[in-house]
Amino acid sequence: ATPTAVMVATGIGANHGVLVKGGDALERAQNVNYVIFDKTGTLTQGKAVVTTAKIFSGMDLGDFLTLVASAEASSEHPLAKAVLDYAFHFHFFGKLPSSKDGIEQRKEEILSRWLLEVEDFAAVPGKGVQCLINEKKVLIGNRTLMSENGVSVPPEAESFLVDLEMNAKTGILVAYDRTFVGLMGITDPLKREAAVVVEGLKKMGVHPVMLTGDNWRTAQAVAKEVGIEDVRAEVMPAGKADVVRSLQKDGSIVAMVGDGINDSPALAAADVGMAIGGGTDIAIEAADYVLVRNNLEDVITAIDLSRKTFNRIR
Ligand code: ADP
Ligand code: MG
Repeated sequence: ATPTAVMVATGIGANHGVLVKGGDALERAQNVNYVIFDKTGTLTQGKAVVTTAKIFSGMDLGDFLTLVASAEASSEHPLAKAVLDYAFHFHFFGKLPSSKDGIEQRKEEILSRWLLEVEDFAAVPGKGVQCLINEKKVLIGNRTLMSENGVSVPPEAESFLVDLEMNAKTGILVAYDRTFVGLMGITDPLKREAAVVVEGLKKMGVHPVMLTGDNWRTAQAVAKEVGIEDVRAEVMPAGKADVVRSLQKDGSIVAMVGDGINDSPALAAADVGMAIGGGTDIAIEAADYVLVRNNLEDVITAIDLSRKTFNRIR
């Protein structure tokens, strides 16, 4: 393609909110064999909502939610935001249904007043969070986090969890003082266009892949809903780039679509990295494309634009 054609294509992309960083990236997109989608925040809306809180000990529901919200208040994870929201609504809207307005705005201030004091908070990437509350260890996260800390999950809780996961929900487990207390089920709906885009890519001869740190059962259920057969689940944040490299081994051209901090090494490793929507700055930096509208249709727009620009003129 002539420099003029590249310039024109770049401009057309920009008008659609498809920002491409240079002619090389624009050229590579035409030959993409795989598009890897991060699950949370990329295929899904990234607006996680708690659907269930189930206690498997004597703890009172209000105390349980206070404990969990206190620990998650220091986390940046979308799951943490869902938990805080749920606890907040349970404690306040339950009691004050008529005075919603001012309260939603004052959420942080109100939360900070009743949350418990937390010490030694640490995020455990790909697994959850841990901290001390009342000098007792609090653990919130997946099965691995529990087992690595010697917390056993009772069979009735395990089967409740399996049930949630088969319904595409993520379960988070809660332990206090090394004893399992209860769990929460969280749902994060798919983006409306997700299934259509997956179908469209297949028609273009591109192989879609879903990549996630979430557990296998939830991942499979979500993948089935969106029409993706190739799933890579329970991948630790550091392992995402390895998945990209393993697909590149036979010379395949790999695009990666993601939004989070966790995704930036994979975005950088991909032949075509696409940061979506209000992705984190570090993701935007690592990417070749920024899809500013946060709409997955722009993945197709980007590939189309490249094909039209280069195929025609070659
Ligand atoms: P994803 O690839 O979907 O963004 P992550 O690697 O961030 O997933 O997390 C993987 C899993 O670790 C989550 O599905 C959850 O079970 C657990 N986890 C991570 N962060 C938290 C948190 N703040 N609270 C509870 N669980 C968490
Ligand atoms: Mg994500």
